[in-house]
Amino acid sequence: MKNKFYSEDDLIPVSALSDFVFCERRAALHFIEGIWEDNLFTAEGTILHERVDDGSSTEARGNIRITRSIPMRSLALGLTGKADVVEFHRKETGGIKLKGVSGLWLPFPVEYKRGHFRSERSFEVQLCAQALCLEEMLNIEIDHGALFYGKTRRRLDITFDKELRVETETTAERLHNLIKSGVTPPPHYSKKCKSCSLVQFCMPDICGTKRKASRYLLKVFSELP
Ligand code: SF4
Repeated sequence: MKNKFYSEDDLIPVSALSDFVFCERRAALHFIEGIWEDNLFTAEGTILHERVDDGSSTEARGNIRITRSIPMRSLALGLTGKADVVEFHRKETGGIKLKGVSGLWLPFPVEYKRGHFRSERSFEVQLCAQALCLEEMLNIEIDHGALFYGKTRRRLDITFDKELRVETETTAERLHNLIKSGVTPPPHYSKKCKSCSLVQFCMPDICGTKRKASRYLLKVFSELP
């Protein structure tokens, strides 16, 4: 971890990292320009998160204790947020003590995602950021977490290896720099724009490149009566 620490006023939501890895312009539209818009994909994701959030209790299943909606933050990364679910796995060594329960317990963050089972780096970075927040708060090392996919109800275990940790730290720093700059990057049209809820505002087809813009205008003019 770096020596620099952010102030409480500079904290950014952990979920912004996922935005930034998905598309830097999307993160800028959200966090510089304040544009938010739901589409079917994000609306389903919100419902899934609300279902997780509405039970802020702790539940015990054998050697696992499940806690929902845990607030978290990292001053080293300048991030804040809420973990959907943090499981605490009983360990012989290397865990923390939990209030009112005997033994040692290792945190294991679980992030809920809509859709089908798949591997997406943006989700892995977001989950790793949650682990880094919990590590800073609890002063413990967390090796693993999981992404849970609502549609298929399957979990994908993620290892917080060196590469993912470095990428997460770098992403957090780059995101802070982007927001500080106040400059929204230009759009680049790609396959992922089809699932982006901001496509109507971003207009990557029209503004993306001069070539695409002129092609679009030619098409519009050719269709005029
Ligand atoms: S529409 Fe495409 S370029 Fe624009 S913010 Fe979304 S993903 Fe990025």
